[in-house]
Amino acid sequence: KAAVSKVPKLSDEEVAEWRKEQNITLFSDTCPHPLTKYEMCTMVPQSIHKKFTEQGFSAPTAIQAQSWPILFENRDIVGIAKTGSGKTLAFVVPAILHIAAQSPLRPGDGPISLVMAPTRELAQQIEAEARKVLPTTMRVACIYGGTPKGPQVQMLREGVHILVCTPGRLIDMMEINRVNLLRVTFLILDEADRMLDMGFEPQVRQICSQIRPDRQTCMFSATWPKEIQALASTFQRNFIRIHVGS
Ligand code: ADP
Ligand code: MG
Repeated sequence: KAAVSKVPKLSDEEVAEWRKEQNITLFSDTCPHPLTKYEMCTMVPQSIHKKFTEQGFSAPTAIQAQSWPILFENRDIVGIAKTGSGKTLAFVVPAILHIAAQSPLRPGDGPISLVMAPTRELAQQIEAEARKVLPTTMRVACIYGGTPKGPQVQMLREGVHILVCTPGRLIDMMEINRVNLLRVTFLILDEADRMLDMGFEPQVRQICSQIRPDRQTCMFSATWPKEIQALASTFQRNFIRIHVGS
């Protein structure tokens, strides 16, 4: 009982004040209160809290604080925030909770969470960031072009919970029937504006159209041009859009 009463709770006024301080703008009528302190994140397992401590993190970043409760409520999100704001864990932590709530992977099952990124370097950074907090029972793999497919095919065959990819290599794997997207229910488009700048829109659309429509979808972008708006309205329903910074 004592532990429960220790969970800090923000009033509506404090939430408004915090959003103002953090320069967060919401584009939705309803949005859950941010989780501005780790002590508020009672749904996050202790093992992950321990990893935050090990990394020397003292609190969720603004984008994490506001994205987590939205994603924990199974809503879709579009997050607009600049580089270095901690967007990766804004989606990786909810992905881990989502995966933990699913039945375990069986042989031949594909990933439960799929992350698309525009470049090999960005995909590798996401994988590295995910490994900082990933439970030992969950596997992540990263696939990208410009390197032999063999080892990546082998990783997919062994089964992964989170697959980070560039769109081109994922389509290569789909074409040779080496990846199964039937279990994907948590989809992330990271750096969506760069993905479109690099001409990946047809590939992104092709991949998204193969994923079950009852999935949860997150999109992150540094900017909000009309091309991204069009993509979001095609692939996400009833999403909450948040902007961090100007
Ligand atoms: P973005 O995708 O927004 O550019 P990243 O997810 O790559 O940002 O994170 C940038 C850096 O911030 C990484 O080194 C990451 O480990 C670190 N980071 C993430 N969350 C926190 C936190 N809560 N406190 C401090 N540093 C964090
Ligand atoms: Mg990033």
